[in-house]
Amino acid sequence: MAFDTIFKNARFDGGSRHHIAVKDGRIAAINSADEPLVGAETVDLGNALVVPGFVEGHIHLDTSFYGDAWRPHKPCTSGFDVHERVAFQAQNMAVSAPMDVRARNQLDLCIGHGTTQMRSHVMVDGSVGLKSLETILRVREEYRSVIDIQLVAFPQSGILASPGTPQLLDEAIRLGANLVGGLDPAGFDRDVEKHLDVVFGVADKHGVDVDIHLHDMSTLGAFEIEQIAARTRALGMEGRVAVSHAYGLGDISADYLKKIADILARSGVAIMTNAPGARPFPPVLGLRNAGVTVFSGNDNIRDSWWPYGDGDMLRRATTLGYRSGFNIDEELRVAFDVVTEAGARALRLEGYGLRVGAKADFVTLNAAHVPEAVVAVPSGRNVYKAGRLVASCGKIVGKRA
Ligand SMILES: [Zn+2]
Repeated sequence: MAFDTIFKNARFDGGSRHHIAVKDGRIAAINSADEPLVGAETVDLGNALVVPGFVEGHIHLDTSFYGDAWRPHKPCTSGFDVHERVAFQAQNMAVSAPMDVRARNQLDLCIGHGTTQMRSHVMVDGSVGLKSLETILRVREEYRSVIDIQLVAFPQSGILASPGTPQLLDEAIRLGANLVGGLDPAGFDRDVEKHLDVVFGVADKHGVDVDIHLHDMSTLGAFEIEQIAARTRALGMEGRVAVSHAYGLGDISADYLKKIADILARSGVAIMTNAPGARPFPPVLGLRNAGVTVFSGNDNIRDSWWPYGDGDMLRRATTLGYRSGFNIDEELRVAFDVVTEAGARALRLEGYGLRVGAKADFVTLNAAHVPEAVVAVPSGRNVYKAGRLVASCGKIVGKRA
């Protein structure tokens, strides 16, 4: 076979050295270092650690102010109130730079760090209609050669609380959104059954996957997860449903957690956590050991919810490992798996990974191995999408489509 590009001297996590042959944007062969390959072009990776492109599993391209003016964080009147945060967001969005400009800023940031696959939630509700989605769909098209993006129609203002939202979610899927979302069926809409009727109704009608924001705490959040899992099984949607945040799993009893973890594993419902600040969050290792897919994302970056986040999924692995108390190499590799292979499973990505037949999406790192990369978060990365260099040292190179 005539290969397009040979990437020679790639070092894999175990320490073995390889040459990677790329043909039509996919990995066509992986040879050991003493078996040369020939292609039209050769790139010497200089014995850098090569890992698959990062999977950003949860981000908001429409609501970040990254690259725009600094917007000081406004605390809630008391505690954490989703309704109040949504109101602050609307105030900030009214005076921010155009959405497409902010979305491009954020995409460049993420791609520069090594993200090649992404799932973004985009507001679809009575307050903004389909306007945000239309904008982000256009930006997605611009970036299609450098990053694969799944879009979730996200009812940020609730489904029942925001008139017209059920029809808008349905319309959003027709327009090009890939998944249907939800938001705190109890805490926001105060009717778990009716909220989930809409979410799973749209999913069933269009054959799309589900990813629900769930901030509700403790046993209330856990109860909602049970309901989501039951709906998933009833529709035969195992492996196609995710619950984002699921804070409740971080503050329930060990016995209840074990029960919920078994239900999640049996139902094929994945959990997304970004290991947020001073909040309880799902126990990553416990859930994984029970057979649950746990993935991650930056979620909010410089937006009305919090000022943190830098678009780097490797740093997210560090944060997740740090907050989980991960120290041994095996655990650091778990943190890395969450932002790569497990993310790919949760997003049901086709052709992911460093293997023959997969898309040639990979990142070079200045680190001895994955555990060191997770704690050191090295800079100076090269990012390849479909075998083409798309970012170097944090900067986008080459043209977008
Ligand atoms: Zn979110």
